[in-house]
Amino acid sequence: MKFTDLPIDHRILKNLDAMQLSNLTDIQQQAIPYGLLNKDILASSKTGSGKTLAFVVPMVNRLLTTRALSKADPRALILAPTRELAKQVFGVCRQVIANTQLRASLVVGGENYNDQVNVLRRKPQIIIATAGRIADHLKDRHLFLNGLELLILDEADRMLELGFSMQLAAIHGQADHRKRQTMMFSATIEQAQIKQMTNELLNNPQKIVIDSNE
Ligand code: ADP
Ligand code: MG
Repeated sequence: MKFTDLPIDHRILKNLDAMQLSNLTDIQQQAIPYGLLNKDILASSKTGSGKTLAFVVPMVNRLLTTRALSKADPRALILAPTRELAKQVFGVCRQVIANTQLRASLVVGGENYNDQVNVLRRKPQIIIATAGRIADHLKDRHLFLNGLELLILDEADRMLELGFSMQLAAIHGQADHRKRQTMMFSATIEQAQIKQMTNELLNNPQKIVIDSNE
């Protein structure tokens, strides 16, 4: 299957073409159609299989093709376990939203906190963040998630291993829009902790397992 076979906005197709991508990987082929239907997704596939675009493409398509459900930005929040991973996802996201009205901001630990407060004041529609830093901004009321339409957890198992379950619960608690779509990606989805998180955060998710890492 090719990206041009998907019912997605032409601006996304143009950007994917500029990234020299044409054929979908397995996880993209399985996940993107459900993502485009606004379904919750619980997916697992090995490192390097192309998970980033599996959630970025449906996210950007929804933001480009549907009106915001509320005036409150951000509409989308992507959480990653580490700064480095968040930066990688941010890079991909920026390429996919090139030449659109959408703006994405990176909010991770280790960067100046007050600079981030200013970034958040500019109300980006998309935030890519580490859970710890975003939880701090939520607590300090620099950020509100009542308009959040898409919550994406990348490498959810690693976030739990790193001890972010409290922060994830706090973020979820402030982002309980009834039309929220949640997509969770994880190397493993059978652990008890992941199952519990799935039950709390996801609503009747489509489960996609491409290749077990266990
Ligand atoms: P994962 O998150 O599963 O580890 P990534 O999303 O980081 O994987 O992608 C791994 C690599 O594969 C990246 O270099 C990315 O550019 C490349 N890639 C992703 N999707 C495609 C595709 N459809 N065709 C070719 N290369 C791709
Ligand atoms: Mg990844």
